Amino acid sequence: MSDENKQSKRRLPEWLKRRMGTGQTFNHTHHTLDTLGIETICTNADCPNRGDCWSRGTATVLILGNICTRNCKFCSVGHGKPLPPDATEPERVAQMAKEMGLKYLVITSVDRDDLADGGAEHFRDVILQCREIVPTLEFELLVPDFRDSQEESLEILKSALPFVFGHNVETVPSLYSTARPGGDYRRSLALLEKTKQSLPNTQTKSSLMLGLGEKDDELMGVLKDLRAIGCDRLALGQYLRPSKDSLEVVEYITPEKFDWWAEQAKELGFTWVQSSPFTRSSYHAEEK
Ligand code: SF4
Repeated sequence: MSDENKQSKRRLPEWLKRRMGTGQTFNHTHHTLDTLGIETICTNADCPNRGDCWSRGTATVLILGNICTRNCKFCSVGHGKPLPPDATEPERVAQMAKEMGLKYLVITSVDRDDLADGGAEHFRDVILQCREIVPTLEFELLVPDFRDSQEESLEILKSALPFVFGHNVETVPSLYSTARPGGDYRRSLALLEKTKQSLPNTQTKSSLMLGLGEKDDELMGVLKDLRAIGCDRLALGQYLRPSKDSLEVVEYITPEKFDWWAEQAKELGFTWVQSSPFTRSSYHAEEK
């Protein structure tokens, strides 16, 4: 890429400019998370929607610590050797849900390949504890690929009965070796397919970041693969480089093109679609 080209990639197009959050609800969200020591993917991934989401009194909880056992090239979450699961976390997350008056909670985690169940038991414990304190709360999980334990982990999560079970394929298969070297496209599809079989009343969901250099026909191929395994929900958003060590943005996709992808996805049969430059898997996840 020429220097001029690199320079223009660094300048954000108008449609990607976002205001910081302020106001009473934003401050309450911030204070509650801080006081209870809750990690969020909003902060750890430097999500551009934080101002918007926190001002609406919602946040996505990051459980099982903020050190990942993998090192995806699009992600700014730290990697290395994680700490053991924190037994106080389920109670703290439940308190947070109560204090924020939540009706819908998205819970995600780093990859925990160091744990035999990939962290499934801890996910379940967080949900069960939240339900004790806020019985009406609905849950959306965004889980890792449970590399060595898909069946066992799903068996554990069965009793948690999430409303939505999400696992992100993140990008097209040809970009896995550069963007997601620890991942495996087929393994990710397999997890979503097994989920549909073992939790038939739970909606399955996946997300991709666009702008990493994927081709339209490759993306269409992924959407068809997802529908072929019964995936219900889809989120498409713009990849934004979270740190100087992360992959460069190859292309800024226009809002019109995101709208076009939304139409394509609906035609393929996805029942819930979010597709816009700022879409993230948890963005407006609570909208039915
Ligand atoms: S889109 Fe998700 S990760 Fe980003 S700020 Fe909103 S809730 Fe947090």
